Amino acid sequence: MEKQKSVAVVGGGLVGAMNACYLSSRGFKVDLYEARQDIRTMEIVRGRSINLALSCRGRQALKKVGLEDQVVKDGIPMYARMIHDLNGTLRPIPYGKSDQYIMSVDRRKLNETLLTAAEERPDVTLHFQHKLISCDLEKGKLSFKMNGGADVEVTTDLIMGNDGAYSAIRKHMVKRPRFNYSQEYIPHGYMELTVPPHNGEFAMAINYLHIWPRNEYMMIALPNQDKSFTLTLFMPFDMFDQIKTGDDVMRFFMEKFPDSVPLIGEESLKETYFKLPPLPLVSVKCSPYHVSDKAVIMGDAAHAMVPFYGQGMNCGFEDCLVFDEIMEELGNDLSKVLPEFSVVRSPDAHAICDLAMYNYIEMRESVNSRWFLMRKKVDAC
Ligand code: FAD
Repeated sequence: MEKQKSVAVVGGGLVGAMNACYLSSRGFKVDLYEARQDIRTMEIVRGRSINLALSCRGRQALKKVGLEDQVVKDGIPMYARMIHDLNGTLRPIPYGKSDQYIMSVDRRKLNETLLTAAEERPDVTLHFQHKLISCDLEKGKLSFKMNGGADVEVTTDLIMGNDGAYSAIRKHMVKRPRFNYSQEYIPHGYMELTVPPHNGEFAMAINYLHIWPRNEYMMIALPNQDKSFTLTLFMPFDMFDQIKTGDDVMRFFMEKFPDSVPLIGEESLKETYFKLPPLPLVSVKCSPYHVSDKAVIMGDAAHAMVPFYGQGMNCGFEDCLVFDEIMEELGNDLSKVLPEFSVVRSPDAHAICDLAMYNYIEMRESVNSRWFLMRKKVDAC
């Protein structure tokens, strides 16, 4: 009988937790190592966007591991973009046909669902507070620092690098000959604000992704299950830097996003604006995604992208599905599967990174163009 292969999944975010499910189904002994403590036991989880848009490619990947229904039942369909013009006019722009939509889902809940699903599968062990500090990709050796300070050494058949946009595994790949790598920080950062429920109900129309496009910058809002909306302000860092006081915040919002002020509430707006600094947005392209038959990267570790196409997570989930399909096709032979994954996946991921970059212009500027306004009139006929 063939010996059971082991895999060390590095990173227990969205993609790592999903990969643990897929690899368990393929018969691997899975050990997942996550730097943070178990988010299921934490009161507050700090990190990136509170909610995310889940689309078809992400749903297909969830479906194959039997989790689509569980995730979708807690999601909120968004059938159209709802444009908030400066004068307060609202214009819906549908995503597709009247029954087509993307879904707003809660990042923490989705991550927790995936971790629990992984844990329930055969031969999966989750190790929290294990931060990867070094590795030998060719030998399948990894060193983790545990929260208590001790080091843990691990040897595995396959290293699955799912440790996000600033991946430690990728840093080791970068040092290798003929590894292509580029990263770009855009001049814009982002900040999250909240529109609380009003009188126990959603304060804006629920089934939309709301956008305040102001050409050089924009604000968006996605609905949450608790009837609040999470707003995200995307703006150049030098504009963020010019807003220094509560009065500056109020002047800026009254001038640029006046209809949002009563929805957020003056006090909350002034307080939240200064709570956390704006965060950067990076786009990463690299290739290949693998080292021999020993290591492979997926998700943001392989292709972090700016969030404007709403495809970072979706694309990462699709990586897991595509990898699984290649495993099936090539009889689980890692010496063939890993190179094939790089060949198949990197051109697609690079294309989505480019589309995501382009869609920022679409969202903040093109939706204000005459063409969109004319299309709106046609749609209304
Ligand atoms: P991550 O979610 O970053 O997870 C990586 C994990 O690895 C983390 O848990 C981290 O703690 C762990 N880790 C890191 N380093 C180590 C280490 N050395 N050792 C051990 N563990 C480690 N995508 C969408 O599809 N739709 C959206 O609407 C959307 N909106 C977004 C909005 C914003 C503002 C941003 C910033 C991103 C958005 N994205 C969206 C992109 C999405 O967040 C990412 O693509 C997704 O989180 C990638 O998942 P991941 O598991 O690859 O990485």
